[in-house]
Amino acid sequence: MSFVTVVNIQEQVLRPHQLHSKLSSYEADMILGQLVSILRNSYCYDEMTLKYVCRFLSPQAYQYLVNERILNQRCGYPLCDKSTAVHLHRDPFCMINVRASYVTKYCSEMHMKASSFLYAQLSSTPLSEREGIHLIANFNREKYEQDSEKYDPIIFEEYLREKRTQNDVDALIASIETLDF
Ligand SMILES: [Zn+2]
Repeated sequence: MSFVTVVNIQEQVLRPHQLHSKLSSYEADMILGQLVSILRNSYCYDEMTLKYVCRFLSPQAYQYLVNERILNQRCGYPLCDKSTAVHLHRDPFCMINVRASYVTKYCSEMHMKASSFLYAQLSSTPLSEREGIHLIANFNREKYEQDSEKYDPIIFEEYLREKRTQNDVDALIASIETLDF
């Protein structure tokens, strides 16, 4: 399975949509469809790539992407190159003693949580109203760390690494167990 970088997304998905800063609903749907089509059978190269992908996703689009990955027997978390812990085609009776529900959807409990953590942060603003985010010229790799883009989520791995303590993030992590998809 191959990985996907920011440049891959820009060249394969966004390049045809550089003429104006506001996408039509049709163009937005095309971009989302292509993102899912690429990521259903590959994975994000790094956290920056996943954040970049999330600029374009709504919770619904993310859910669709995760489900497509699961149907492809990939771990639902788009930063992961592994398969699901238990393949869907396996005899269902094998599942009886499996206590965790993640096994048909994710490679690990960690990635189930990482996925829910990401999902909870995604914006519901339609892609067609997120003006200018698809413009390649607006993307500055050097400045990326400093930019506080309003559509960029905190990646779970980043959260664990930095041990962030802000109340809003703590509230997010506390809510993870209640999300189910
Ligand atoms: Zn995984």
